[in-house]
Formats: sequence, C-alpha cells, structure tokens
Amino acid sequence: MSQHYDYLIVGAGPFGATFAHKAHSAGKKVLVIDKRDHVAGNMYTAETEGIQVHVYGAHIFHTPDREVWDYVRQFAEFNHFRLSPLANYRGKLYNLPFNMNTFYQMWGVKTPAEAFARLEEQRKEITGEPRNLEEQAIRLVGRDIYETLIKGYTEKQWGRSCTELPAFIIRRLPVRPTFDNNYFNHPFQGIPVGGYTKLAENMLDGIEVRLRTDYLEDRAALDALVDKIVYTGPIDAFFDYRFGALEYRSLRFETETLDMDNYQGVATVNYTDAETPYTRIIEHKHFEFGAGNPEKTVITREYPREWKAGDEAYYPVNDEKNQALYEQYKTLADKEERVIFGGRLAEYRYYDMDQVIRAALDAAEREKVSS
Ligand code: FAD
Ligand code: UDP
Repeated sequence: MSQHYDYLIVGAGPFGATFAHKAHSAGKKVLVIDKRDHVAGNMYTAETEGIQVHVYGAHIFHTPDREVWDYVRQFAEFNHFRLSPLANYRGKLYNLPFNMNTFYQMWGVKTPAEAFARLEEQRKEITGEPRNLEEQAIRLVGRDIYETLIKGYTEKQWGRSCTELPAFIIRRLPVRPTFDNNYFNHPFQGIPVGGYTKLAENMLDGIEVRLRTDYLEDRAALDALVDKIVYTGPIDAFFDYRFGALEYRSLRFETETLDMDNYQGVATVNYTDAETPYTRIIEHKHFEFGAGNPEKTVITREYPREWKAGDEAYYPVNDEKNQALYEQYKTLADKEERVIFGGRLAEYRYYDMDQVIRAALDAAEREKVSS
C-alpha cells in the first residue's frame, strides 16, 4: 500500500514551509511538493561567486511582529542589513523612501519646517479622499515628487496608468521628516546569513519534499495520498479558471556577473523615469556587506511585464475588477473542506514574507498543529 499523509503541502515557499514545519513538529505526517526544482518559493537564493543571488528579485525580511521574528531566527541567523535604496531619475540620484534627504535633493530645503511648507503647498491639489494611486501619491508627497519618483516607476511596474491603480499600493511607502534612509518602518529587519534557501531547507528538515511535481497535473493521485491539502498556488488555476483568469504582473530578471568589485555601491537603485525599460538594478553582494569574490559582482535588472499563461505570477493586481473575480473564487474555496488556501497566490494578496509566515502560523493554530 502506498504511504498515507496527514497533509499534502502544495508549494515550498514561506507559507508552505511554515505550515509544514508546524505540522511536522506536532507529529503529523507531511508531504511537500513544488513544481519548481527548488524549495523556498520566491525568496529562493542561489550562490554565484560566493554571493547569495536573490533569483526572484530582492527580498528583505522586515516585520513588526516579534513572534514571527523569533520564529524565523530559529532557522537562520539574520544580519543587520537595512534597505536604503536610491532612485535614479534621468541621471540624478535621490534617496528613498521620501525623507529629508529627498526633500533637500528635490527642493533644496534643509529643515523639516521648510519641507512641510513645500509639502503642504503641493498636497492642496487633492481635496477629499484620494480615488486612485495618482491622487494618493500627490496627497502624500506632492506633484514634484510624484512626477519624478513615482509616476514613471509605477506605470512601468504595473503596466497601467496611475489613475487606474488602487491607492493602497503607494500607501505602504513611508514619508519621513528626518534624514533617515531606511526604507522600512518596522523594528525588525535583516537578511538570513547563508541565504533564504538554507532558511527554507532548515524549516523543512526531516520532511519529505518532492520537487518538479505539479499538483494540478497529478491531482487525483496526490489527493488519494492525504487527508488534507494546503494549497499555495494560484487560486484561479485550482478551479481551472472557471470564472476566467485573474490578472498578475510578471517580471523578467536579467542577471549578469561583472568583472569588478562594486558596480553601484548600494543594493538597490530604482530607475524612476518612463524611458528606462527596467524598474531597478540590484547588486546582490550589498545585501551581505560585500560578501563573496572581491573581483566579481552580480547584478540583476528587473523588467516588469504583463502576465500570460505559463509565466511566473509575481504580483496580484488588486484592482476592483480582479478583486471581484477573486471573491468569486474565494466563495468556492470556502466550500472546499479538505483544502486550506494560503499565501500570496492562493489568497491573491500583495503579501510580504512576514505576513505570509504570520498567516501560516495562524492557519496551523486553527488546525491545532501548533506545537
Ligand atoms: P511563493 O513564495 O510564491 O511560493 C509558492 C510556491 O508554490 C512556489 O514555489 C510555486 O512553484 C509553488 N506552486 C504553485 N503552484 C503549484 C502547483 N500547482 N504545484 C506545485 N507547486 C506549486 N517580501 C518581503 O517580505 N520582502 C521583500 O523585500 C520582498 N520583495 C519581493 C520582490 C519581488 C520581486 C517579489 C515578486 C516579491 C517580493 N516579496 C517580498 C514578496 C514575497 O516573495 C512573498 O511574500 C512570498 O514569497 C510569498 O510566499 P508564498 O509561500 O505565499 O508564495
Ligand atoms: N514606488 C514608486 N517609486 C519607487 C518605489 C516604489 O513609485 O521608487 C511605488 C510603486 O508604485 C510600487 C509601490 O511604490 O509598486 C510599492 O513599492 P515597494 O518598493 O514597496 O514594492 P515592491 O518591492 O513590492 O515592488
């Protein structure tokens, strides 16, 4: 007789790995599958020239949640990396997120009072509740910053006009009256030493993992092996796109190894004009304070593109149309008693890693597999 499992976990990303770890620790028999040839989902890192390359784009762990922070640090040591990205607009550099350095570079203002006066003057343009990303951005930082640092970047990233995008996307960016270039407000931040793949492998220690295994291609046979399923793939694919396909944004990563020590002096530079076809260049060694071969560096250009069947789905497009379609799928998902839908693709949410881990810990708690 073939093996029987308590849980089949579809997807070895942070949601799947967290749930698997919790269930395994509680004595459950767990099988993890992933259609890719590696674990760790989109946080996957692979080593080149002694440098941990973030294969699916820059991943910085940051969280306000002490329990999540303590949880992940069981599996890796985290360094003290702080993301301080630069923006390059037509050759001129600006600091991000929007802070006193940015205001100085933009307007020459040197004090918070001068910066506030400028911001107030420009924010007045929008009265009432912002109805879209453009209005929200102008309300936050005014038209000058919107035109220089937001409009071009956002329209490339999302392939849509800022007037058609939901306001919440931009609300996550801090605006600070201090000379502080730390991109995140969260108290806990860092990069796992040795890479995210090692972190995921440690979470999955002792658990059976089958790679290159697509749940949707072998569904009946896999379902027969298990009591319950934790599904972290796209929700529309699970239901065979019966109401139509949800839209996602995809990305193309162009990675090169260069014969130099230091290409741009910082982990991330955003190209905020509309003309440059990529949105950002990341230089991986700076996530680890210049680790690896001192004669080499690895950089990645990130090109946004519209998702089509067969592409990797990176960002859900949470506009009204897609949100309504998702709700239809969610109604079906709620009726699937054997299946837990979790993570960025199954919940169609613009989740960060820490939020996904929190959601998986909560799901494990609800399942009473939390040790
Ligand atoms: P995923 O990591 O996507 O894992 C899902 C897994 O399921 C995948 O490995 C996939 O192959 C597998 N799968 C799907 N369908 C099937 C199937 N049918 N059969 C078998 N396997 C299947 N978050 C941060 O906290 N900080 C950041 O700095 C950050 N930067 C990001 C930058 C980029 C460019 C992107 C795209 C995301 C970023 N994120 C960041 C978000 C982060 O990647 C997600 O929060 C996280 O990966 C979501 O975890 P997950 O387990 O839900 O999904
Ligand atoms: N954004 C921008 N200019 C920048 C960086 C971000 O306009 O230089 C906007 C853009 O709309 C982006 C959103 O802010 O989609 C959120 O940015 P964040 O860096 O948090 O997104 P992610 O790293 O998930 O792509």
